[in-house]
Amino acid sequence: MWELIDSCWIQERWSTSITPKGGFFCEVAAAQDMLFDGPGGYPLEKNWWKKTPDEFKDQMKRYCANCSAAVPMPIPSANDAVDFISLSNEDNLKECGSRRFKRGGTQTFVKKMSKKEIEKNKKNWRPWEHRSFMQATPDLNSKDALIEYAEKESTGKVELDEMIKMGLLKEEDLV
Ligand code: SF4
Repeated sequence: MWELIDSCWIQERWSTSITPKGGFFCEVAAAQDMLFDGPGGYPLEKNWWKKTPDEFKDQMKRYCANCSAAVPMPIPSANDAVDFISLSNEDNLKECGSRRFKRGGTQTFVKKMSKKEIEKNKKNWRPWEHRSFMQATPDLNSKDALIEYAEKESTGKVELDEMIKMGLLKEEDLV
């Protein structure tokens, strides 16, 4: 589990967050703290956001184990009517009186995944592509990444043409 969490795609792409309760290494952790009435984040002192993983281990232990973002599950669309939740979060949401949970806006995911299945799903798993439009990601900095992104199944050709128009790629790069 910690091996997956250590390379969590959300943590690698964005993440630090501030709420009225302090600073968090990850915005999903920050949201959990608000939702489940956690103990709050770090004091907002100068450079608080420069903490190393070792220094924010306490938040990782508290929130990552409660989060499935790093698990290579099937990718739901950001527009789906329901959110997948775990059994333990089902209890947490009941307890905190979540309105979304009450109105049936969640679906409890109970399937256990084997190590073999996780390894298989990890290949070509791109959970950040949960929208039908282009997003900036750090790995879009190299030409190879741009080409790979543009050739992906979901949006492909239109974005590719846009990138060429914007001068990010040339037709000959794609040969
Ligand atoms: S596992 Fe969840 S809480 Fe932990 S870094 Fe990833 S998104 Fe944040």
